[in-house]
Amino acid sequence: MEKQYKTILKDEAFLRQISKPIDWNKNDYHEAIKQLDMFCQEDENLLALAAVQVGIPLRMIYLKKTDLTRLEDDYNERTILINPVITKRVGKTTYWESCASCLDYMGLVERPYKIELAYQDEKGQAHTQTFEGFPATVLSHEMDHLDGILHIDIAKEILNMPQEERKEFRKTHPYEILSKTEQFVQKTKKKSS
Ligand SMILES: [Zn+2]
Repeated sequence: MEKQYKTILKDEAFLRQISKPIDWNKNDYHEAIKQLDMFCQEDENLLALAAVQVGIPLRMIYLKKTDLTRLEDDYNERTILINPVITKRVGKTTYWESCASCLDYMGLVERPYKIELAYQDEKGQAHTQTFEGFPATVLSHEMDHLDGILHIDIAKEILNMPQEERKEFRKTHPYEILSKTEQFVQKTKKKSS
């Protein structure tokens, strides 16, 4: 099956839209889950995906690898978050992020150290969960996708680096915690005026 997920080269406008909440009576969220499963199994470098990246602009996130000690190719935590809402952001971290939709562009992005998230699971059950450390970074990146924001929009620095070189680069430029307690101020997209 041909990959249909969107890149900035092919379809930046599609990625810029605001994804719609899932209506449990109307939306075919099973198809989105199927697509996300497929892409996350195929691409061993993926940490997570938002549904909009596979061409389905619904508020749904798939977490595959958020544990920095479990980055082996076949590891998949398969956490599906539906209609997620961040209710709290605390602390500050930085990481050189990359994105399946942004070609070779890496960006140094500030993210909260800890976030509190309200969401529903695949069965529609409501949850509140705290994500701390690296998972908070991965999740913040995906949450931005739901609002049409890419990491390159809010990065302090941007680098063009192919996948093969990133592993080595990250050894000297790792995930960094700047504060665990300060109030995090969420950046919004730069106005292009
Ligand atoms: Zn991304």
